[in-house]
Amino acid sequence: MSNHCPTCNGVIYNRRCKTCGYCGAELPAQLLFTAAEIEAIDKEAAVLAAFHQKQKAEIELEDLKRQLARQQPSVFSTSYFFGKL
Ligand SMILES: [Zn+2]
Repeated sequence: MSNHCPTCNGVIYNRRCKTCGYCGAELPAQLLFTAAEIEAIDKEAAVLAAFHQKQKAEIELEDLKRQLARQQPSVFSTSYFFGKL
């Protein structure tokens, strides 16, 4: 299946758009996404966005934990046992 406009032969870069981005001609339905395909793509994008958001939050939490761990005195330091000398 060609992904070029039948009128001007320009590349169809957005298969959600009913008209050609170059010449404005109406594109045949078989070159476009169906409503169900668009819905499936949007759903997948939302799942991916939520996944990335969760990953980002986990990374930020790990960074915070690491920062806090650095602030607490190490069990290997003398100040841990004797306080500040
Ligand atoms: Zn065109």
